[in-house]
Amino acid sequence: MIKIDCPLCAGEASADEALTLVTCDGCGLAAEIAPDPFVALEAVA
Ligand SMILES: [Zn+2]
Repeated sequence: MIKIDCPLCAGEASADEALTLVTCDGCGLAAEIAPDPFVALEAVA
């Protein structure tokens, strides 16, 4: 797992090794990332 800054809260999110799924225990984020991570995250927000 890869730790990244969560885009939705002040916590850390976890991404799988292929960077296709990001999850955050702090706020419940669960976003698939493909092909553009920023577009995917904005869609969730
Ligand atoms: Zn979060």
